[in-house]
Amino acid sequence: MSIVTRFAPSPTGYLHLGHAFSAWMAWKRADIFRLRLEDIDTTRCRPEYADAILEDLRWLGLDWDGEVRVQSQHFPEYARALEKLQARGLLYPCFCTRAEIARAQSAPHGVEGLYPGTCRTLPPEVRAARIASGAPYALRLDVAAARRCVGELRFFEENTGWLEAKPERLGDVVLARKDTPSSYHLCVVHDDALQGITHVIRGEDLRDATHIHVLLQALLGLRTPIYAHHRLLTDSSGKRLAKRDKAATLREMRAAGTKPQAILQQFEASA
Ligand code: GLU
Repeated sequence: MSIVTRFAPSPTGYLHLGHAFSAWMAWKRADIFRLRLEDIDTTRCRPEYADAILEDLRWLGLDWDGEVRVQSQHFPEYARALEKLQARGLLYPCFCTRAEIARAQSAPHGVEGLYPGTCRTLPPEVRAARIASGAPYALRLDVAAARRCVGELRFFEENTGWLEAKPERLGDVVLARKDTPSSYHLCVVHDDALQGITHVIRGEDLRDATHIHVLLQALLGLRTPIYAHHRLLTDSSGKRLAKRDKAATLREMRAAGTKPQAILQQFEASA
């Protein structure tokens, strides 16, 4: 069986060493290596970053197979996937503002990082009236209801083994917003299946998201790939590299005379 992996950056900044490491981890395992630009958040993504990412990957020697999938060109496909979930009654409108969610999370029974479920139980007539009044809303996945549809789920994580999927870890995630009619979670499972990805190799910061992705795959009738979550590169003080660390962008390193071989050697040593 051919191993098909991918790198799926969001072009919200220049490629930094941490991302490039992730790309390399996926590239070195691949018989077929796919590239995808996750640019559905058109308020934050910029075409010049997308071009720069492709150029930086080429410079590093990480070549990809076939066309680059550009998510912003495929909104109708994601809308169809969303409609399937909506038709099964698994989505609900959420009118909460960020501030309201933060307040509920810090209340005695709130859980930090998890949506408190405020809008899950709104009576239908209240929902209808708020939508009719033009109030902005997001669509959230009712994880408990979704779980009842599919039952127990598991996935294979390399270096760990079979794991039971626990989508509750992320709670009722947002699957669409007014300004972004689809979400990362929905698009990523759609496209991993479409691009025939057999092994999703990505940073361990996305491990919790995998549990939601496995649930979405079951709901949408998509095959679950094998997952591998690698450790994240850190700076000399142990802090995770981020897009705002300008010195760690491939552009800066290249301008300062760093050679691709030196970067790849660092990756070999970190893998
Ligand atoms: N687009 C995501 C990011 O740049 C990565 C998604 C993934 O690898 O699943 O963080």
